[in-house]
Amino acid sequence: MFFLRLRFLCVAVLVATRTFGAGPETPLQTPEKSGHKAPAEQNITFNSVHADGPCIAMTFDDGPSATLTPKLLDLLATRHIKVTFFVIGENVAEHPEIVARAAREGHEIGNHSWSHPNFGKMSDDNVRSQLRRTDDAIRSAMGNRPTLMRPPYGSITAREKHWIHDEFGYRIILWDVDPYDWKRPGPAVVRNRILKETQPGSIVLSHDIHPGTIEAMPSTLDALEAKGFKFVTVSELIRMARPQPSHPSPQPGGNAPTKATPSPPPAPSPVSSPSG
Ligand SMILES: [Zn+2]
Repeated sequence: MFFLRLRFLCVAVLVATRTFGAGPETPLQTPEKSGHKAPAEQNITFNSVHADGPCIAMTFDDGPSATLTPKLLDLLATRHIKVTFFVIGENVAEHPEIVARAAREGHEIGNHSWSHPNFGKMSDDNVRSQLRRTDDAIRSAMGNRPTLMRPPYGSITAREKHWIHDEFGYRIILWDVDPYDWKRPGPAVVRNRILKETQPGSIVLSHDIHPGTIEAMPSTLDALEAKGFKFVTVSELIRMARPQPSHPSPQPGGNAPTKATPSPPPAPSPVSSPSG
């Protein structure tokens, strides 16, 4: 019963933030290795979100895949679950209709570069070109521009975060749950890792280009739902962000793992990680 109330709260907060349009000035919290960050940085980069209620964002990278992404969209539609796709520009140009479908069905689309290079080791001009081409491809596929960006491998420098945010208006989205599905460990391992690590406010990384990931999703999503988690897009999750309590206090989360103070995630930034 308690958890049902939390779930209601999560939805209520979402409705409230939609109604009143909490903007980028909303205080945000993003745990990172370095501990406290400057307010400007908190508004730009997210590994997870400190939100009221057990909402989480599932994210799928590196697609769209001609076969696997439609399969994923089918099973998300059955469950009325909205997720966020970080797409590769090359793939968008090849399958714009899949991106259009995902957007039409309520999912969020983010920029994940044109060809998946390592931004942390590139010139500004090359990064700019990767982002611009992909931004254009997404806009022509779904009619509007993305507002989120995830750097390939989570690799991005602090300086890049700022100029990319200033120039493109993007928020930089990393993650706090990584099932290492790109290593193709099998659906059961992918599911178990996600179930073990996901907490309220989590941003879960995975890839819609690996068959095992798609195979893992029905039971993973059902189990997350059974634990009381509510699925929202990354931008919805960010809109629900609340200031971090200054003193550690129990976090709502039902029977999901709780943490008084969010522990640092595997923090892929700024060093390159094989994931992402
Ligand atoms: Zn990627």
